[in-house]
Amino acid sequence: MSTVDPNQYLVKNEPYYEAVGDEITLYEAAYNARMPMMLKGPTGCGKSRFVEHMAWRLKRPLITVACNEDMTASDLVGRFLLDKDGTKWQDGPLATAARIGAICYLDEVVEARQDTTVVIHPLTDHRRTLPLDKKGELIEAHPDFQLVISYNPGYQSLMKDLKQSTKQRFGALDFDYPAENIEVAIVSKESGVDQKTAGKLVQIAHRARNLKGHGLDEGISTRLLVYAGQLIGKGISPQAACTMTMVTPLTDDPDMRDTLNAAVQTFF
Ligand code: ADP
Repeated sequence: MSTVDPNQYLVKNEPYYEAVGDEITLYEAAYNARMPMMLKGPTGCGKSRFVEHMAWRLKRPLITVACNEDMTASDLVGRFLLDKDGTKWQDGPLATAARIGAICYLDEVVEARQDTTVVIHPLTDHRRTLPLDKKGELIEAHPDFQLVISYNPGYQSLMKDLKQSTKQRFGALDFDYPAENIEVAIVSKESGVDQKTAGKLVQIAHRARNLKGHGLDEGISTRLLVYAGQLIGKGISPQAACTMTMVTPLTDDPDMRDTLNAAVQTFF
């Protein structure tokens, strides 16, 4: 029995999403098959926005969980809480999603401990169940429930990786920074700067992305370009805006900062 109102998780307004290929069609087919999906790609390249957009398109509630290394299985599944009347069970976000037929998006699932990832297994095969061991209940997932995880194959893959037994439960879509003209459109639309300024920001990002693996762990994300545009829109000088959003967050290495700032100065 669920007392949760699914409507609170509906995405009310269309989230702006610029398609980069046929990902919308592919995802729709996967959802129609209720196939668990894995979205792979670097941070800030549009994975979360894509899920929000798809939940809106499919008119399904969306429950997002940002995973971290301290997360336990109980954080996903639920736990008993103590209150004045004794103990009360509280569903975690995964249990709620399974009950109400939401799309459950586990962002950066590789960050979670392995015992946490194992709880998703019975939900991602023919069983479509979630055992609440502590409560002694087996949830049968609602027919509309779908599990989606995101995964950044880049920087942490040597330290942490999903087990094959987990990976092979998902269909997967690759995401990457969008092609130049699409990224310019996104940065301009999201931040409000004109196309010319957005174009320069994207050019700087292209230079910096070439430094990945040569002193930078990750390239400049689309998200950071949007930040830069937003500051420029607030009247901050482009150089200061770029340093604050596209240089300082990325690296503490003075030489690398000089290199990135030099790239900024080439354009602004
Ligand atoms: P991720 O989940 O991959 O870390 P996000 O989905 O949060 O990244 O994307 C970061 C930001 O980049 C979004 O808030 C949005 O402004 C912008 N963005 C990236 N790709 C797109 C896209 N294809 N369409 C619209 N906005 C995008």
